[in-house]
Amino acid sequence: MIFTYLYSNQSYLHNYRWAQLLLQLDEIERNVSMLLSEEEDVKYQNHLGGGVYASVTSHFYCVDFRRFFLPRGTTTAKPTRRGVALRISEFKQLHNVIASINTDFPELASAIPCYLQQDHNSQETVAVCRECCQF
Ligand SMILES: [Zn+2]
Repeated sequence: MIFTYLYSNQSYLHNYRWAQLLLQLDEIERNVSMLLSEEEDVKYQNHLGGGVYASVTSHFYCVDFRRFFLPRGTTTAKPTRRGVALRISEFKQLHNVIASINTDFPELASAIPCYLQQDHNSQETVAVCRECCQF
């Protein structure tokens, strides 16, 4: 199910999200470790692309991958029901199979984040990119 939000073979744009997830993996792992240690509050949220965020939050023992939306007249994005919350054990399983996924899907292994594409060399280009500026 996580691939619904991170990857679709019908849209190359979603390869960017996979690439972004791989770049954020160490940071997500660090926040999961902080969550499990319960020594300090955790409120981690990072944009993967297209309004999909990865988040780790104190008292919720999961890594949440969820699409957000911007309610009309507001400036704060809110979570939708579209997403998946992986238990910590499920997230670790995902982490353990990433190498296999990249082997089976070479288009994912070679993907780079949207904002690193050559066509993102101006603010105007980035401003109209639905992957970078989802709202
Ligand atoms: Zn972009």
